[in-house]
Amino acid sequence: MLIALMYHDVLAGTETSGFAGADADSYKLTGALFRSHLAAIGQTSGTKPLTATGRLLHSGDWAAHTRETRHRVLFTFDDGGISAYSLIADRLEEKGWRGCFFVTTDYIGRPGFLTKAHIRELHVRGHTIGAHSRSHPGRFADCGEQRLLAEWGGSAGALADIVGEAVLAASVPGGHYARRVAIAAEASGIRALFTSEPTVSLTQVGACTVIGRYAVKRQTSAAEAAAIAVGRELPRLRQYALWNAKKVLKLAFGPVYLKARKTFLASK
Ligand SMILES: [Zn+2]
Repeated sequence: MLIALMYHDVLAGTETSGFAGADADSYKLTGALFRSHLAAIGQTSGTKPLTATGRLLHSGDWAAHTRETRHRVLFTFDDGGISAYSLIADRLEEKGWRGCFFVTTDYIGRPGFLTKAHIRELHVRGHTIGAHSRSHPGRFADCGEQRLLAEWGGSAGALADIVGEAVLAASVPGGHYARRVAIAAEASGIRALFTSEPTVSLTQVGACTVIGRYAVKRQTSAAEAAAIAVGRELPRLRQYALWNAKKVLKLAFGPVYLKARKTFLASK
């Protein structure tokens, strides 16, 4: 089974990395917590974190990993915050592991985000660089077809220019997924598209494999991260139930839900 974990930023102190705001902050872990996550996951006997994400992407044989008895754990990081370079990559490499970093390309070089040189170096060090759209639109799946193609093609192309090879992986901004998002990604050369749906089942859209992920937030304990990584059903089902409940709320109330969530988070 392949278990993909969705992280964002990890902060060593009070510096900023990635997008600002209460919602984004709820995904930012402290350096100490991240270290304990890696330790807990490393201690579980049933897992085998990925050491070479690039090879997996190029083989494209995701199904082979779903047949393995030991769970392959894939560490993914959204948005392209600078902590990928300043902290996360070092911690993963200490364990001999590698990660997938999904970069919002319009933000490259801005304060708190990776520079081109950082991205190139992460790639050389064996991490996978993937696209996370150009501009991180709010409701991605609602974008028109031309916009979707421009967001995927533009971001994958910009990253390919930086790393010097085709970019085959991407993750959906805001997790706002619909099949048309995958169709546009496939047309832009993406072969592995990561969503925020907490599932291990894979969906094929043409040549593109759509892969779910389990969200890791600043409240996620090391024990819970390890339980998800090792494939325990309870924490995974809990995420799935929550995710579906939220989806129903979003469908019913749309912008009202998003606004209420912002207000709720801001008040915490
Ligand atoms: Zn994002």
